[in-house]
Amino acid sequence: MTDVLIIGAGPAGIFTALELIRKKSNKKIVIVEMGDLINRRSCPKAKTGKCVHCKPTCHITSGFAGAGAFSDGKLSLSYEVGGDLPDLIGPEFAQRMIDYTDKIYLEFGADEHVEGVEATEEIKDIRRKAIQADLKLVDCPIRHLGTEKAHDLYLRIQNYLIENGVEILPHHDAQDLIIEDGVCKGAVISGKEMRAETVVVATGRKGADWLESMCRTHKIENESGVVDIGVRVELRNEVMEKVNEALYESKLIGYPKPFMNKVRTFCQNPGGFVAQENYENDLAVVNGHSFKDKKSGNTNLAILCSHHFSVPFNQPILYAQKVGQLLNMLGDGNILVQRLGDIRNGKRTWQKELSQGNVRPTLPDAVAGDITSAIPYRTMISILGFIDQVDKVVPGFASSETLLYAPEIKFYSNRIRMDEHLNTSIKNLYCLGDSSGWTRGLMMASVMGVVLAQNLLK
Ligand SMILES: Cc1cc2nc3c(=O)[nH]c(=O)nc-3n(C[C@H](O)[C@H](O)[C@H](O)COP(=O)(O)OP(=O)(O)OC[C@H]3O[C@@H](n4cnc5c(N)ncnc54)[C@H](O)[C@@H]3O)c2cc1C
Repeated sequence: MTDVLIIGAGPAGIFTALELIRKKSNKKIVIVEMGDLINRRSCPKAKTGKCVHCKPTCHITSGFAGAGAFSDGKLSLSYEVGGDLPDLIGPEFAQRMIDYTDKIYLEFGADEHVEGVEATEEIKDIRRKAIQADLKLVDCPIRHLGTEKAHDLYLRIQNYLIENGVEILPHHDAQDLIIEDGVCKGAVISGKEMRAETVVVATGRKGADWLESMCRTHKIENESGVVDIGVRVELRNEVMEKVNEALYESKLIGYPKPFMNKVRTFCQNPGGFVAQENYENDLAVVNGHSFKDKKSGNTNLAILCSHHFSVPFNQPILYAQKVGQLLNMLGDGNILVQRLGDIRNGKRTWQKELSQGNVRPTLPDAVAGDITSAIPYRTMISILGFIDQVDKVVPGFASSETLLYAPEIKFYSNRIRMDEHLNTSIKNLYCLGDSSGWTRGLMMASVMGVVLAQNLLK
C-alpha cells in the first residue's frame, strides 16, 4: 500500500512529490509514468530529420518532466498567465506560490535572468500600439530556461527525488481508477491494481481525454471548458525584433469581429524552431520551442482561438481532435503549412514556393498545402482578423510570406470541479495540471503540485 500514488511525471506530479520531500514528509510516494526517465528521452527526429512516430509513446510529450522536458522552459512569473488556477485559489495566493515555486526552480539551477520586468519606453510604445489595435498586452515577466537547460534541470530534480526515496516507475500507464463508495482507493496500472491512500492524477494534455473518460465512468464531477484551436505563425526575427527584445514574449489578447471569440498569442519563440508532437491515435500537432544557445533566423508563436460548446454538443476535445485529424489527412499525416498571402489569394501553397520568400520553414517535414480546407470558418476568420490587428503593433506581421502551420490545438478543455483546497467530488482523488483543465503552462502546473503537497500535509 502506497501513501501517495502520482499518475504522470509532468511538472504538476513532480512538484507534488518534490514539495512533500522538501517538507520532510515521510509518506511513501510512487510516481507512475507511461513514458521514459528523462535521461532516456530523446527524439529520433534530431537524427532522421522526420518524425518516426515512436511507439508506445512520443518522447516529446511523454516521460519524466512531461511535455516540459523538450519545451524551451519559459516560466511565466505572473498569475495572469498560465491558466485559471488563480480563480480557484485566489490571485494573491497564486502569485505568492509562483514566487515560492520560482525559488525552487532557482535552487535546481534555473537562469537568474528574468525578461520583461522593466517598463521601458519600448514596452510603453508596444502597449500604445496594442491599444490602438484593440488588443490587450498582458504584463508577464519570463524566466527562460532554454530547451537543453530545462532538460538538465529536470534531470537534477529526477535524481533528487530518487535519492530521497521516491519510486519512479517509467513505462507504466494508468488504465483505470479504483473508486469505491465515492472514495478513491488506487488505480489500475499496466494491468495491475495499485492501492494508495491518496491518488493524484496529473496526466497533462496527453492524458486529458483519458481523464475525461474516467469522469464519465466514475462520475467525477467535471464541466466542459473551452478548446483552443489555431495555427503556429513563423516569420523573420527582423520583423519581431522590437517585441522580442523588449518582452521576449508578447502576450496579446483580442476579440476580432465578427465572431468576437477570444484570440490570443501564446508560446513565442524568438530565434526558435517549429516542432511537432504526437498524441493518441497518431494525431500530429504543431508546437514551437527555442534553445538557449542554438538560434534560427525566425520567430514562431501560436495564435489560438477559443471555442465554447454547450448544448446539444459538449465535447470540445472531440471537436478539436476531428479538426486536427482533417488537417493531418490533408498533410498525409504531417503538419500542414501555408503562406498567409496564399490564404488571402484563395490558393494552396506548393512546396517549391516555400523557399521563395525570406522565411525558411524550421519544421522541415511540414507539408505545403491548404489549411483553410480544414480549419473551421469561424476559427479561420477570427485568426485572420487577429493577424491584421497584430500587424498594427508589429508591422510586417501580416506579410504575404508569413507561414501558418496547423493544427495547433490545446487539449485542456475538460475541467475537473474542485474547491479551493483542490478537493474533487471523490474523496482522496486529486487532479492537477493541464489535464485538470486549471493550468496551461509549466509554472502554473508546478504551482498546483506545490499547493496540493502543502494541503496534504495540513
Ligand atoms: C513543445 C512544447 C513547448 C512548451 N513550451 C512551454 C513554455 O515555454 N512555457 C510553458 O509554461 N509551457 C510550455 N509548454 C506547456 C507545458 O509543457 C505544460 O503546460 C506542462 O508541462 C503541463 O504540466 P503537467 O504536469 O500538467 O502535464 P505534462 O507535462 O503533460 O505531463 C503529464 C505526464 O503524464 C503522462 N501520462 C499521461 N497519461 C498517463 C497515464 N494514463 N498513465 C501514466 N502516465 C500518463 C504523460 O506521459 C506525461 O509525461 C510547452 C509544451 C510543449 C509540448
